[in-house]
Amino acid sequence: MTDRPLRRVIIENAYIVPVAGAEIPSGHVVIEGDRIVAVGPGPADAVLDGVTDGGSGGGSGDGDSERIDGSGCLATPGLVNTHHHLYQWAAQGVTPDGTLFEWLVASYPLWAGMDAEVVHGAATAGLAWLAMSGCTTTTDHHYVFPKGRGDLFDAEIEAARRIGVRFHPCRGSMDRGRSKGGLPPDEVVEEPDAILAATEDAIRKYHDPSFGSMLRVAVAPCSPFSVSGELMVWSAELARSHGVRLHTHIAETQDEDQHCVEQFGVLPVEYLDRLGWLGPDVWLAHAVHLTDKDVQRFAETGTGTAHCPSSNGRLGAGIARVCDLLRAGAPVGLGVDGAASSEMTTLAGEIRMAMLMQRARYGPRALTARQALELATLGGARCLGRGAEIGTLEPGKLADVALWRLDGFFAAIDDPVVAFAYGRTPPLARLLAGGRTLVEDGELRTVSGAEAARAGAAAHRRLTGAA
Ligand code: ZN
Repeated sequence: MTDRPLRRVIIENAYIVPVAGAEIPSGHVVIEGDRIVAVGPGPADAVLDGVTDGGSGGGSGDGDSERIDGSGCLATPGLVNTHHHLYQWAAQGVTPDGTLFEWLVASYPLWAGMDAEVVHGAATAGLAWLAMSGCTTTTDHHYVFPKGRGDLFDAEIEAARRIGVRFHPCRGSMDRGRSKGGLPPDEVVEEPDAILAATEDAIRKYHDPSFGSMLRVAVAPCSPFSVSGELMVWSAELARSHGVRLHTHIAETQDEDQHCVEQFGVLPVEYLDRLGWLGPDVWLAHAVHLTDKDVQRFAETGTGTAHCPSSNGRLGAGIARVCDLLRAGAPVGLGVDGAASSEMTTLAGEIRMAMLMQRARYGPRALTARQALELATLGGARCLGRGAEIGTLEPGKLADVALWRLDGFFAAIDDPVVAFAYGRTPPLARLLAGGRTLVEDGELRTVSGAEAARAGAAAHRRLTGAA
């Protein structure tokens, strides 16, 4: 370590939505190193104490200090994506009109052909796409590990390091192939012993529990219809012995309800509850079909939900009871889900989709723009156990900040949060993760956007054999 002063970034004149606390119509955010050190109204001069920086004006700086003019911009916390399957960038457009089970059965044989090169290319494109739409923290749920195809988990972690997002890769798994009553063909499932050993290796090798961590691993068997009850229990024991979080898909469709009743004699959430899979260290993808008791159990146990409205719409799965979960006090975040079930969805777009779908089912006051923004920030942070680090703009938190341009076409809406959430997502002026610029003036800065797009297209060709 050197005693070189921390790099300082000063954003001024922006409309600031800290998510926690009152909105600031024209204010500043001051960042030192990877932390936020000040948030308040007016210019930052009063809190800068004689700092000599590169002067005022948009994006000026001297290398160790930069002052960004946020005039005409909305500053929010960087968005948090709580559910994804990055490899699916390479397998988009399959079964465009199918149910979840029809789409899965058509997709499994294609996914069986993936290797580390496909995963790296797909993850590069998928993570670039997320960053370019305001996401600074994302999970990934990878659960297909064909034998002898390289280190797929390492491939996506390497891609995340290059793009610069805060990454929560979930070591997924499937052990219940068709011969054991599951949905996937036997060629894409693994043996439980091999799954548990590889998952423990991944935790030991990559998981960083420290404050400000850029990399945390979770344990994530895939779903009740592709994983045995024994593996669910062993996975929970493994995760809890290492202090890492648990993730899985649950209650996504009525077909899944029927499968669980036939095979286990109970609905999906009750099945999870019996396996010890509800708790403050668990967040669950979809949770569309919940009983009143399920909603109550999520709230009592602090179990989080990764709400994926575009994917639920694309597959005709249903509309989750988000407003009921929030009313009960359960954590809810947003997820884009894999690009094969919500093609090229953006996380900022999910804010709008969540709001509209709740209103379509429950009426115009079901979910406000501000509540939807909170789902995509603090709600997601809570699902990942990081509510003390990210998800709001407050001194002491990590400097994950999105600065959205609300001038130009967006200037005809007076309320900046309505302008942000109701229509098309505005362009990004800047995106910072841990104080580092990932996106500037809509362009990815850590790698070239064109290179990331080519990597995704090459992964698609390699997986599908398309010319
Ligand atoms: Zn999923």
